[in-house]
Amino acid sequence: MAGEHKDRLGDKLRNVEAAREDQWARKRDAELIEVMRGRLARIACPNCKQFLIAKTEAGLKMQACPGGHGAWLDAAALKSALKEHKLAGTKPQTTVR
Ligand SMILES: [Zn+2]
Repeated sequence: MAGEHKDRLGDKLRNVEAAREDQWARKRDAELIEVMRGRLARIACPNCKQFLIAKTEAGLKMQACPGGHGAWLDAAALKSALKEHKLAGTKPQTTVR
């Protein structure tokens, strides 16, 4: 009986610990994403060297060349775009330079 009670308490403590770790990881991920967005914002277009500007197209946040040479998405936005593309029934095209 006492052992069973102790096990349940142990499980609860482990759950609380896991929840705290998840919360910490989410906060850290959010901070890292903000840092990466900040870095992207200072990146220049490889074609015309103008600084990229923040833009939202079709609900996707991206950094785009003001001269229209291209746009850069972070990994999460790219993943989301590819998922939408697949759902639309078309294969994504990749270009390798
Ligand atoms: Zn450009």
